[in-house]
Amino acid sequence: MKAEKFPTEKQTVKKQGWKDIPEGGIITRAASAKMNKTGSWRAFRPVIDESKCINCAMCVLNCPDNAIPFRDGKRGPVNLDYCKGCGICASVCPVKCIKMEEETKFRK
Ligand code: SF4
Ligand code: SF4
Repeated sequence: MKAEKFPTEKQTVKKQGWKDIPEGGIITRAASAKMNKTGSWRAFRPVIDESKCINCAMCVLNCPDNAIPFRDGKRGPVNLDYCKGCGICASVCPVKCIKMEEETKFRK
């Protein structure tokens, strides 16, 4: 049997310029971020060894979900309603006092 010849990508796809791509987006209510509790997706959670924390705020500044508060010169506890467990805080912590632990350990 003769092998079928498939067209190459070059032959079938006409690449579009960015101005030709249709507009898209997500329509949601203003200031609705609080309603999206991204913490429910989490597979890992950050656990902080308070005895080693030097309050440098690197985790606070780098958290993409703004889930770590900083008040009166001190880092606060991780807001688990919004922490999605990405592990960025653990990566940037200069004293490595944040450990990512499996969420299943905390949920029963
Ligand atoms: S794991 Fe990610 S989302 Fe959670 S506190 Fe750390 S940086 Fe923020
Ligand atoms: S990055 Fe580490 S040392 Fe700095 S405030 Fe966060 S937990 Fe503490």
